[in-house]
Amino acid sequence: MTVPSNDAPTGGSPQYDLLLKGGTLLDPGQGINDRRDVAFKDGLVAQVAPRIDPSSATTSLDVTGKLVTPGLIDIHGHFYHGGLDNATDADEVCLPAGVTTGIDGGSAGWANYRAMRDYVFPSRKTRLLAFLHIGAIGLALNPVVGGELQDVRYVDPDRTADTIKDNPGFLLGVKVRMFVNSMPPWEAHRVLKQAREAADKAGLSLMVHVSGTPIPLPDILEVLGPGDIATHIFNGRAENILDKRDKVRPEVRDAAGRGVVMDVAHAGVHCDAAVARAALEQGLFPTTISTDIHVAPPERIVYRQNDLVSKFHAMGMPLEDAVAASTIRPAKVLGMAGEIGSLAPGMAGDAAVFDQREGRFVWHDMAGHNVDGSLRLDTHLTIRSGRVVYRDGLLLPEGDC
Ligand SMILES: [Zn+2]
Repeated sequence: MTVPSNDAPTGGSPQYDLLLKGGTLLDPGQGINDRRDVAFKDGLVAQVAPRIDPSSATTSLDVTGKLVTPGLIDIHGHFYHGGLDNATDADEVCLPAGVTTGIDGGSAGWANYRAMRDYVFPSRKTRLLAFLHIGAIGLALNPVVGGELQDVRYVDPDRTADTIKDNPGFLLGVKVRMFVNSMPPWEAHRVLKQAREAADKAGLSLMVHVSGTPIPLPDILEVLGPGDIATHIFNGRAENILDKRDKVRPEVRDAAGRGVVMDVAHAGVHCDAAVARAALEQGLFPTTISTDIHVAPPERIVYRQNDLVSKFHAMGMPLEDAVAASTIRPAKVLGMAGEIGSLAPGMAGDAAVFDQREGRFVWHDMAGHNVDGSLRLDTHLTIRSGRVVYRDGLLLPEGDC
C-alpha cells in the first residue's frame, strides 16, 4: 500500500520531495541489491541509504517488499506517435512498464524528424530520444511501398550526419534496417556502407536491424565495432546467429567479443525463443533488452519491457543481469551513464517499483514457442524526474502523487 506521510516537519520545507521507503533496491550500476531507501529532490536522486527518516520528505511511499530499480531504458521502440502509422504513444506503453527512457529506433529520417523533436516527444512524460534513420523519411512510407529504401535516392549520408550533429543529445546515432524488403537486394551492401559512413561522420553509433537480412549476417557484423548495435539479435529467420547445428556462429561471437551490442528488440516477430535459449545456453547473453514496441496487428504478440525482463529471466538470465540489460547497459551504450540507468545521488530521478509476482507464467513468441517462468515483474510505480507518473494501472497527471 502507498501511504502518504503526514509527519513532514512543520516550519521550513522538507529536505526531500519524495521518498521510496522499505524496498529492495536492485541497481546493477551501483552494484546494489539490498534494502535501501531512495530520496528524490528537484527531479534528481538526492540520497540512497539503508534508512532515511520519512519526516524528511514531503511524500513518503511505503514500498516494503517491492523491487526498486532505476527507470528502465528501452533502447529500441517506435514512439513517433502520429508521424508513423504504427508508432505508439510512449506514455501508454513505457510508463506502465517502468520505462522512463524510450529510444526511437529510426521511425524518422532527416526530412521528417522535426515534428518528433518539437511536438511529439516534448508532449510526453517519458524521456524520448532517437536514432535517425538513414532514409530521408524513416519508416513513414512503409505501409505504401513496403520498404523504406526501395528508392535509394532517400539515402544521404551527409545530410543524415549533419542532422545528427545539429541535434546533440537528442539524435544518438544512425539506424538502418538490413531487411529483405527494405531495399533492392542488390543495393544492400552499398546502403550498409552509406549508413556506416553517416554514423562515422556523426561520430556516433550505428544500429542495424539484422532480422531477415538480404545479405549474409557476417557481411553486416564485419562493419560493426564497439558500441554499434545489432538489433533483433535472436530472430529466427534465415541468416540468424546460429549455424545449422544450432551453435552460435563464430562471427557473432567475434562481434560480441569486440563490444558490438547484442540487442533483443523483441517485437514478437523478431525474437525466437528457441534461438534465444540456444544462445543463452552457449553463454551468449543479450547486452540490452528492448521491445521494438509498435502498434501491432491483433494476432502479433508484442511485450513491454517489464515482461521482457521477466521472460529473459525465465529463459535463464539472472534477474540482476536482465535489469542491467534494461538500465545501466543501455545507458552506457547511449553515452548517458552519468545521467540515467542508475540511482546514484545526482542522477535523474527516474525509478521503477515492481511487485515480484510468483506463480506460473507463460510467455509466447510468433514461432509458437512457450517460455515458462515463475516470476513476473508487475509495475507498481513509475517515477520520472522525482515524481510519480504511473501507479498500479493508472497514468497520473503531472504532479499528482
Ligand atoms: Zn524497430
